[in-house]
Amino acid sequence: MPIPFVAGNWKMNTTVPEATALVEELLARLDEVHGVTKVVCPPFVSLATVAAALAGTSIQVGAQNMHPELKGAFTGEISGTMLQELCAYVVVGHSERRHLFGEQDDFINAKVKAALALTLTPILCVGETLEEREVGHAGAIVDRQLTQGLLDLSADEIAKTVVAYEPVWAIGTGKAATPKMAQEMLAAVRSGVARLSNASTADSIPLLYGGSVNAANASEIAVQQDIDGALVGGASLQPADFVGITKAFAARL
Ligand code: PEP
Repeated sequence: MPIPFVAGNWKMNTTVPEATALVEELLARLDEVHGVTKVVCPPFVSLATVAAALAGTSIQVGAQNMHPELKGAFTGEISGTMLQELCAYVVVGHSERRHLFGEQDDFINAKVKAALALTLTPILCVGETLEEREVGHAGAIVDRQLTQGLLDLSADEIAKTVVAYEPVWAIGTGKAATPKMAQEMLAAVRSGVARLSNASTADSIPLLYGGSVNAANASEIAVQQDIDGALVGGASLQPADFVGITKAFAARL
């Protein structure tokens, strides 16, 4: 069973001073929570400051996005080469990138490969829209995003990834998937990972649920068999909530 894994996606929130204050508060409360991989993903401009504040602590740093090329004429973009000096993880294929910025599966797959070729662990996000769920396509959409996102990776490479199931209709809406629904989808994700690699790899990588996770609903999500952790958006900006969620997954052990 993977070590529980909780990551906070701060999205486009916090100035550098606000990020500094948030990470100090989180550190004071989270450093003592053991048995969980803890990651915070601040905006790019705060990565260096947050990384310095967390150096030598039990909390790790991730980026929210990256470009697949290592360097070059891509104005406004950030490469994995730049990120790997500052953080260990990178969120790839978040639904806001897919839907607001038009990112497609092949571009996301290129990012996953670029991250793995460096020292970055990709957190690959997959998830269906409400319309797709209502017409019964949730499973097929998630399977396509997973298969395309992990395309042409060896089992050893897949073993170095994290996958987050985040139904689009649950992100930032306050309407989390029911634990049963999230469990069903993540069980299917685990089967998909096994098909693309092998059973032991599928059992070893953290599979996360994301979508309106908070301190109140985290415990019932954390007890589900195929949910190893959470990718947390809004609640990750509230230290009490994020700590509560992390403790709920620590108690899963
Ligand atoms: C997210 O942004 O990945 C997310 C899950 O957001 P929220 O927790 O706010 O739904």
